[in-house]
Amino acid sequence: MAVRPIVRLGHPALRSPAPPLAKERLAEPAIQTLIDDMFETMADAHGVGLAATQLGLDLQLFVYVTVSPEGEASAGDRRVLVNPMLEPESGELVYDWEGCLSIPDLRGLVPRHPAVRVHGLDRHGQAVDYRAEGYEARIVQHEFDHLNGVVFLDRMRDLRSLCFTEEWETYMTAGDDEGTPVG
Ligand SMILES: [Zn+2]
Repeated sequence: MAVRPIVRLGHPALRSPAPPLAKERLAEPAIQTLIDDMFETMADAHGVGLAATQLGLDLQLFVYVTVSPEGEASAGDRRVLVNPMLEPESGELVYDWEGCLSIPDLRGLVPRHPAVRVHGLDRHGQAVDYRAEGYEARIVQHEFDHLNGVVFLDRMRDLRSLCFTEEWETYMTAGDDEGTPVG
């Protein structure tokens, strides 16, 4: 496994919708290695999600870990989603802080659906269909956006909450950055 470079805002891959990944390609060792590398890259960057587009690759593929609100990433499940589709459940949008590995050192309040139905394929090409809510739903929506050329800044309703991480820790959270999804 290897840590790969994460591209930052300005790289065209972050602004281009990615095409679906052919199911047969999941059998390729290069794709399986890529998925392992994505988990390693995400962990190295202290993120909880990472999309292939963040490595400059136009593939509908992302990985994430489920994390408790207390930030227990090590206790979370590792998930891979290929060609995902999201169906938002009804309910008022929920605002919470997010950050992005491709937009380093910024935090902002982002509205997200409280729960989503997730359809897609896992790393072996098996169909998955499950419900994600709360924190997990937020991560899934953030990564799904990355496959469609959308970043969290686009989702913010009010840019006045945008902060550098250091100021955010000082003035917004009293030093408690645990549990903020960065993906
Ligand atoms: Zn991101």
